[in-house]
Amino acid sequence: MKKTISVFGATGSIGRSTLDLIAHNPNDFTVRVLTAGKNVELLAAQALQFKPELVVLADDGGYEQLCDLLSAHKDIQVTAGRQALLDAADIEVDLCMAAIMGFAGLEPLLRSIHSSKAVAIANKEPLVAAGSLFMEAAAKAGCQILPTDSEHNAIFQVFEPENKKSISRLILTASGGPFRSWSHEDILTATPAQAVKHPNWSMGAKISVDSASLMNKALEVIEAHHLFAMAEDKIDVVVHPESIVHSFVEYQDGSVLAQLGAPDMRTPIAYCLSWPQRMATSGECLDVFKLSTLNFEVVRDDVFPPIKWAHESLRAGQGACIALNAANEVAVAHFLNKDIGFGRIYTIVEKMLETFSGREVYSLEDVISLDKEVRMASGNFINL
Ligand code: NAD
Ligand code: MG
Repeated sequence: MKKTISVFGATGSIGRSTLDLIAHNPNDFTVRVLTAGKNVELLAAQALQFKPELVVLADDGGYEQLCDLLSAHKDIQVTAGRQALLDAADIEVDLCMAAIMGFAGLEPLLRSIHSSKAVAIANKEPLVAAGSLFMEAAAKAGCQILPTDSEHNAIFQVFEPENKKSISRLILTASGGPFRSWSHEDILTATPAQAVKHPNWSMGAKISVDSASLMNKALEVIEAHHLFAMAEDKIDVVVHPESIVHSFVEYQDGSVLAQLGAPDMRTPIAYCLSWPQRMATSGECLDVFKLSTLNFEVVRDDVFPPIKWAHESLRAGQGACIALNAANEVAVAHFLNKDIGFGRIYTIVEKMLETFSGREVYSLEDVISLDKEVRMASGNFINL
């Protein structure tokens, strides 16, 4: 039996890697839905290759062009706009790949848990902003969550749920990003081209900047807290510049379990696509005979404050986590647009944490409304 799949964010870095794996295993998967934000040409090309029943462009500006490009294929339905994106999440599949960038993925993700047997989550920002709400809803819906982020996928592979009480710590590895050994002064004035030049991973622009600021690791601490229901003080981060060990689970008997692999997202994505089995991938396999040294270092918290903020935010509550994420999304977009310098990302996030940390949220509406408020405040702060 072929697995039916929907890919949200098909034209992005994770979406393309997912489709690359599916293309190499055409007898195992049927793609039902492909969605994208704005990239009409690539979405059309993917639709012609994978023949889904439905393609959705979230930005309705490109609707006519997409219809033109697919006009010879009447069996592929084309829709556009935010509502169409949400409706696409109601289509029943065995597996939904959640690979939209940012908070924009929250609502489709929440809808997909009712129509998908399993959801593979790469899209970490919704977990940061609404983790408790989401995990509760997924459990209620009986939807299997498959962590796709490489660190969380590594933990998932070596996490023994039946021995959860014996787990003393989760240790996330961080490459340290392109500025790992830079001076504080140089980091503050780094350019977008320098920030997106990741030493090990090839990723979308926003997560690349997050890796440079270590905000990505901060988001991942919060993500781990929700995915594995681990207390904030049992989650640590170690810098590992080679990105070979993708995280550790430490047990009270002294065993520390880890998953290793080449820094290629196709490995954790393949794990999610084929779970609970394992599939062959087109990616490079790690050759342990060629590994010389693996290094581990402490995080320079004085230069990179986000991980400390993640712990503070988890202690402060959901309002702080929403503020951390929303302020960062706004700041990174402005940084990539060259409106602000790299150092301002930290100033903006810190200011929004100060302003919004005490805020309480109880429902999805509260989450969406606070996210909006933080975005407005971040924009106003930038324009001061
Ligand atoms: P990307 O920018 O390359 O792609 C994002 C995808 O989402 C694209 O298809 C884009 O069209 C779509 N999109 C963007 N904004 C949208 C909107 N408002 N509405 C609907 N669709 C929209 O991003 P990426 O690097 O593939 O990352 C996707 C998610 O996966 C992020 O949350 C990121 O943190 C996470 N992630 C990525 C990697 C990686 O290696 N790239 C690793 C771990 C986790
Ligand atoms: Mg990661």
